[in-house]
Amino acid sequence: MMRVLAFLAALPLLAPAQKLFPPLRIVGNLYYVGDDDLSSYLIVTPQGDILINTGYEWSVPDIRSRVTELGFKLSDIKILLVTHAHSDHAAGEAEMKRLTGAKMVAMQEEVELLETGGKTDFLFGNSNWFPPVKVDRALKDGEKIELGGTVLTAYLHPGHTKGSASYALDVADGGKTYHVLIANLGNINDGTVLLHNPKYPNIVQDFVRTFEAQEQLHCDIFLSSHAGQFGLLRKWHPGDKYDPNRFVDPDAYPRAVARTEAKFLQQLQEEREEEQAWKDHLKFKDTIPQQF
Ligand SMILES: [Zn+2]
Repeated sequence: MMRVLAFLAALPLLAPAQKLFPPLRIVGNLYYVGDDDLSSYLIVTPQGDILINTGYEWSVPDIRSRVTELGFKLSDIKILLVTHAHSDHAAGEAEMKRLTGAKMVAMQEEVELLETGGKTDFLFGNSNWFPPVKVDRALKDGEKIELGGTVLTAYLHPGHTKGSASYALDVADGGKTYHVLIANLGNINDGTVLLHNPKYPNIVQDFVRTFEAQEQLHCDIFLSSHAGQFGLLRKWHPGDKYDPNRFVDPDAYPRAVARTEAKFLQQLQEEREEEQAWKDHLKFKDTIPQQF
């Protein structure tokens, strides 16, 4: 009996280490180096590489392994970008910058959030902090980032954070040009207040502006901050061979924008109804005759 118990106690040690989510080539010089939830993108050029999003601090060694598995070098990363400065996408930026010596490039409106490690976030300001990262170059809406013949256009899509950004690029492969958009969707985190938010007075206008701007953009290949938002595991399974056409889905992006906009409008409507109910309640109190 004792021997059986001792054997059972030793079993977890025999279990294989958790397998790393594999990296994949999406199209041309664009690779996915994130996990099954948190997206990270590597763009490889002859003059060095661009990394978009690092995930958490603990994601960094995994990203390094995926970059190496693809046959590239982490030290070739010259530019770091982020879709928005929340810990699940940006907490590894400081460590990645230390490892690579790359320049952190970010939207002007996101600089403070990155440099304070999340302490100035309108929603998560008291928690979810991450190692601060110094921004080397601040971007304006529509500004271009160029490296080794690849040109990315950065779009300011605020609301989720004040400086959320999407990145568009054209990738040529097999005689075709693919319009790729790595979009930061206008998702509303639980606990966000839209009306009269003292920490983000323009939040409603920013979300409205983002949805309008996102509706003007078009792409063949839609990618996003989270794998589930663009259905990575519906379109590709570990072991599948390279085929950029599996990611071509021009309707997926407008559908995703419409879905997030509908959620925003619903919450806005609910907050307005609550506010109206409160005003009516106050008015009703005024009409009650005073006793004395
Ligand atoms: Zn977020």
